[in-house]
Amino acid sequence: MATTSSAVADSTSIMDTTSSEQSTRSAIRSLARDVRNLVLRKCRRTLQVGKPYDPFKIAEVFGIELKLCSSANPCGRLYHRGPEWTILVPASMPLSRQRFACAHELGHFFVRSLENNDIIHELLRVKEKHDFRVAEEIFCDIFAEELLLPAEDIGPHLRENRLHLHGFRQLIAEYGCSLQTTAIRITQFAHDYAFLFATLERQRSRKNVLIVRWTATPPGTFLPKHKTISFASVIGKAFVSKQDISETEDKPLGSLRGSYYVEAMPVGRSVGAFALIQLSSSYQLHFAFPPGWGLTSERTHPRQLSFWDTMTSVNY
Ligand SMILES: [Zn+2]
Repeated sequence: MATTSSAVADSTSIMDTTSSEQSTRSAIRSLARDVRNLVLRKCRRTLQVGKPYDPFKIAEVFGIELKLCSSANPCGRLYHRGPEWTILVPASMPLSRQRFACAHELGHFFVRSLENNDIIHELLRVKEKHDFRVAEEIFCDIFAEELLLPAEDIGPHLRENRLHLHGFRQLIAEYGCSLQTTAIRITQFAHDYAFLFATLERQRSRKNVLIVRWTATPPGTFLPKHKTISFASVIGKAFVSKQDISETEDKPLGSLRGSYYVEAMPVGRSVGAFALIQLSSSYQLHFAFPPGWGLTSERTHPRQLSFWDTMTSVNY
């Protein structure tokens, strides 16, 4: 267990790392947006490309051949023979995944194909502790996000009304993105939403619990100490009933305790459940800090979550 002083030192270095990591990412993001805007300008001149932007059409505009491949790998691939460029997209993946894979590979195409490439210069400038390959991968993921779910289009969904599951689904249907990509994108704009993906491992009916594996967005929001979810929980009910469930829950989810408005839906014939969790400023959130941090354990404003995100990157 860390002492108070080392905990404070850890916290400072972690926050420094996090802020330098964030500034690298935000520099790469602004580069990715500039490239996207340039690309869209070129596309508008040669082909009608409206929203949602279609990465397959954009590939066509740039003369890239698209091929479906039978690989089990969910990622796409870009290669060229002389001036002929090809993007391979996995045939077995859902369309949302194929769109993302194609958009990501378009990112690689713009990094590698353009002569006098300003993108490479800019990536070399911002890469900091990453090597160039890692910086390029981050660029391609962000380029895909910015192309498929533009920031200006998500904002209104979050401002007008509070986002509910049906609105979230509309976004997915409208923009052809996966649950996970859309969830990640929303948490980049709003700190009062969290998303949970749970996969059923097995049922232990006598103890009335489901054994699950879960991941959460934003990363580090939850530190799942317990892999069990009760049948009676909102997520548990979505598994069991195979129906959408909405409720206010007052219970710990991992280490984040408090009342949440949770909407959960079954995914993939009850082997998965997806939950959208709304953290409203009217709810009182109780944060469980580890001993030694010397911090108050009660926060009432969801904006504090960004602080919590930093804290949870500590292994304790
Ligand atoms: Zn890549």
